[in-house]
Amino acid sequence: MKPLIRLPRPKVRSFVDHTGKTFGSLTVKGYLGKRGDRHCWECQCACGVTREASSPRLVEGRARQCKVCARKALLDFHKERTSHVAFGEDKSFMEWTNDERCTVSGRTLRRRLKMGMSMEQALSKKPYWRNPNVEG
Ligand SMILES: [Zn+2]
Repeated sequence: MKPLIRLPRPKVRSFVDHTGKTFGSLTVKGYLGKRGDRHCWECQCACGVTREASSPRLVEGRARQCKVCARKALLDFHKERTSHVAFGEDKSFMEWTNDERCTVSGRTLRRRLKMGMSMEQALSKKPYWRNPNVEG
């Protein structure tokens, strides 16, 4: 990556100085000049990585972390939201609700998973907390 070169901040009344501010995991370290009509900033992510971000991206919340952290967050989000293992198979939530082994509605399934049931239990068992002596 090319080194980021800090520049003096322009002496214009309309200019908003973001130095020292934090946006999500990013802390603005210095001004890098204009790219087109956008002011760009040297930002340091909480993980230590330095990246460049423009004023509108920071202010509108489209830049909140470095690319590495953004990718990691996306992967975690994706994994949490879509990957569920049951019966030795790894399927997305939507796929499981359409699976023939799913005996409950998607709403019930979601609620059961929230309660901490495993995907396998949530798919097939009758609500055991109502009568724990009867096997579903
Ligand atoms: Zn980061």
